[in-house]
Amino acid sequence: MRFIKAFSVLILIIMLVGCSNENEVNTSKTTSTTTVNDAIPASKEFFAMDTYMEVNAYGDNGEKAVAKAEKEVNKLDSILSTGKSTSEISKLNKNKKQVVSADTMSLIKESVKISKATNSAFNPTIYPLMELWGFTTKNYYVPKDNEIKPLLNHMDIDNIKIDESKNEVSFKDNKMKIDLGAIAKGYTSSKIIDIFKENNIKSGMVTLGGNVQVLGKKPDGSLWKVGIQNPIGEDEYLGVLQTSDKAVITSGGYERNFTKNGKTYHHILDPSNGYPANNGLTSVTIISSDGTLADALSTSLFVMGKDKAIDFYKKSNYNFDFILYTSDNKLIISEGIEDIFSSDLDIKVVSK
Ligand code: AMP
Ligand code: MG
Repeated sequence: MRFIKAFSVLILIIMLVGCSNENEVNTSKTTSTTTVNDAIPASKEFFAMDTYMEVNAYGDNGEKAVAKAEKEVNKLDSILSTGKSTSEISKLNKNKKQVVSADTMSLIKESVKISKATNSAFNPTIYPLMELWGFTTKNYYVPKDNEIKPLLNHMDIDNIKIDESKNEVSFKDNKMKIDLGAIAKGYTSSKIIDIFKENNIKSGMVTLGGNVQVLGKKPDGSLWKVGIQNPIGEDEYLGVLQTSDKAVITSGGYERNFTKNGKTYHHILDPSNGYPANNGLTSVTIISSDGTLADALSTSLFVMGKDKAIDFYKKSNYNFDFILYTSDNKLIISEGIEDIFSSDLDIKVVSK
């Protein structure tokens, strides 16, 4: 079911980015994998990191760039995935000490930084709770309070020790385990855009599940159109963002959840209490030129809830814009995207 949802998001994005005319929604999907001219991208679709991905690169080196991109995704998946026992993260979680690659080191450092900046709304040490709720095995379970509480004592980010001289990460707490699921896809899309640039690609697009990162403008010089999915209407979208050189990354409880006794429980947990975050937001989209940051902040602001998210935006030195969709169906956006985001819904704009 999740895959079907993810795929429908992907199709939606492709439909929108495929449009050349402002008012036209093009329902055909580009699947060429061989052409090298400017009008049709070299394109690859594959399944990795538990989601459908598509990379598109326009221009002469397109084929080479998308092949390298796929290789990079598989490499990152193999070192970061908690679902693979041989990954660096799995080994770190098991042995509490691990020599790691530059990618893992950089992601852990960034995670620690963002965890502190968000007052722990973002916290990669959430993994034991993800296990308890059954999100890691899909054997879902609604834990009791007295099962959740003890795990909250093993989430102190300061117990992650980083020794860059040895490329080593270790945990001072023997029960600590981490999960980079809230930041890894954004990091991956940023790395793919870097690969595109290294191969002299001027125009390209990556979609990882519902997340998008675009390079430059479309080959015809127009802005990319990215549809922001409506979490409560599978085939609809909240609005359309016209942009270039940005990551557009969304977090929402609708992406992964289960229902027990009529109640739905989703995968973004509030580190302050160990329960699925329930702070008045249905989805959060972050727009930033930094994909890693966009991914981490989409999860963070979802956990914070509307008021704290807006407050964070106003005070933060991070460079980003947001689209918040509240539980009472209100759309709130930041001023930086006022002129490039359109929607049939009423929009409230927040200034810094
Ligand atoms: P995203 O879809 O980017 O919001 O990431 C959600 C994923 O991040 C979950 O499936 C968990 O693996 C992990 N996660 C859940 N809650 C948190 C949190 N509060 N901080 C950091 N990671 C989290
Ligand atoms: Mg995220």
